[in-house]
Amino acid sequence: MAFSIWGRIGLLALGLVLLASVGLGADSDLSFEEIRPGIWAALQPEPLRFNDSNSVVLVSETDVVVIDSQANPATSRELLDRIAKATDKPVRYLVNTHFHSDHTRSNFVYRDRFPKIEIVGHRTLAEDVPARAAPDLDGELALYRSEISAGEERRAKGVDRQGEALDEAGRTTLAGQIEAARETLAGLEAIRWVAPSLDLTDRLTLHRSLGPIEIRPVHAHTRGDLIVYLPRARVLVTGDVLDDLPFGGHGYIGDWVSVLTELETLDWDLFIPGHGRIRRAAEARAHLATVRSLFELMLSVARQAKASGQDLEAARATFLASEALVPLRSTLAGDDPLGARVFDDFVPAGFERAFLEVTGRLPD
Ligand SMILES: [Zn+2]
Repeated sequence: MAFSIWGRIGLLALGLVLLASVGLGADSDLSFEEIRPGIWAALQPEPLRFNDSNSVVLVSETDVVVIDSQANPATSRELLDRIAKATDKPVRYLVNTHFHSDHTRSNFVYRDRFPKIEIVGHRTLAEDVPARAAPDLDGELALYRSEISAGEERRAKGVDRQGEALDEAGRTTLAGQIEAARETLAGLEAIRWVAPSLDLTDRLTLHRSLGPIEIRPVHAHTRGDLIVYLPRARVLVTGDVLDDLPFGGHGYIGDWVSVLTELETLDWDLFIPGHGRIRRAAEARAHLATVRSLFELMLSVARQAKASGQDLEAARATFLASEALVPLRSTLAGDDPLGARVFDDFVPAGFERAFLEVTGRLPD
């Protein structure tokens, strides 16, 4: 079974979730906070977990706009309950920032709760979710089914993963894990893809009491990203175009640099990423500059490699050995071992895209 890099990271995280016997239950760790009047951030506690994401909720006098629907339907239901406590206005728009599962999978929860909701997504989502995000779900279904049957086998034999006999407590734990995994599987089996009802290729501006809500299509993290800009509140919602650690493996690195450069010219002093923490003022601008430097380094090494006739493998080795990568890695991954692992998985994938782009072989 072939998984995207996103899928591999997601499944790694999912394996841990499975072992911890946490199913698709309510995500009580999700924070929900009004960061500016009418602007609420629903942040996931683990910035480097990619089986869920942040959501943003914009509450105005007439209605509510939610940005990104989460992977886990229970999290979406919980968020909708929290929104209902904060306002009696209906959710009228759901924006998908891009096709990845962790931003689109729970669209159906919103449609079920608000049948008249408009789901806003880039036009490419109609093709990319079924073709590129759905296989991740198939992979997760297969993983849970095989974990459950392996767990049942161990329960029948009364042994743990190493084949050692289980005591009473171990048997109880195993039974609980199987039960949780069954619940998760049932939740995954209930997921159905609901495509956007508003397909964007041009900017859409909603005029609301908190000021204009500009939904801007860009070509960066994927071939169809949406950035949301709130000029009056001076807030940017970046999806995965600007994360703690952006995944470049589906990206268009040259255009991504241009998009980041353009975002720099806008008047904002706070951004909310798809994954990671809210950053403000100078620190936010510095983070944007670091991410752009990383992509610029990929492009410049890729161009030099092309000029000297290196193939992808040699070019990637040159890139990974480059001195200039060291400070970028330490700024973006810090001392966190998970950060380092994610950096070392995401960055070579981004470089490959840069190399394909520079050598004219990037698929659409
Ligand atoms: Zn993404």
